[in-house]
Amino acid sequence: MRVVVVPCLSDNFAYLVISGTRAAVIDPSEAAPIEAALAREGVTLAAIWCTHHHWDHTGGIGDLVDKHPGIDVVISTIDAEKLEPKTRRCITKLVGDGDLVALENVKARVILNPGHTLGAISFHIEDPGAVFTGDTLFAAGCGRVFEGDPAMMRASLTKLAALPPETLVYFGHEYTAANLKFAIAAEPNNYKIKNRIAALATPSTPSTVKLERDTNPFVRADSVEEFAKRREWKNNFK
Ligand code: ZN
Ligand code: FE
Repeated sequence: MRVVVVPCLSDNFAYLVISGTRAAVIDPSEAAPIEAALAREGVTLAAIWCTHHHWDHTGGIGDLVDKHPGIDVVISTIDAEKLEPKTRRCITKLVGDGDLVALENVKARVILNPGHTLGAISFHIEDPGAVFTGDTLFAAGCGRVFEGDPAMMRASLTKLAALPPETLVYFGHEYTAANLKFAIAAEPNNYKIKNRIAALATPSTPSTVKLERDTNPFVRADSVEEFAKRREWKNNFK
């Protein structure tokens, strides 16, 4: 298995998970860069896996399904309800916590991680360790809590941070520079954040679970109150 990063829109990441000559695409906001990446890699599209219902993670579904009829299209049962009808009609498989999705011999386990949306999910591949987190866990940050509450979002981050430390974290947006600016304000004495700022290169994906445990101020918040305080502060942070 290998993963190809596909930058989309202004700061979104879609990803191709490739096994042999077949690929699953995660979070296609638009079709054109995905088609280009498939052609470049010489692989066939077999599946679309979506982390949540927002248009910047699902906007390319209709065009991709038109071009590649019969492919698997996966989203959580909860978030499927919120898709616009023309996208919802493309969905072939509704999933929930613990379900498995497969591309050839690659199996990904669904982790329900509500907060950003109520049906937000991550896709976890155990070997080689990789997790696709959408807008739940970012490098040095986390998504805004749009549909859930702080307790929910913190529990979701805790679940992801409990994966093996070497697990690669493939997240949904290139927000890392701004996230690190906030991180060092939240934890001015954390030298691992300083080191991460000094080493920052773009694209910054993937991160690792260990790096997030060490430098992500939202993963590191030690109570729901502290998490809520940091999230609120970051919402207005410049
Ligand atoms: Zn989103
Ligand atoms: Fe997004």
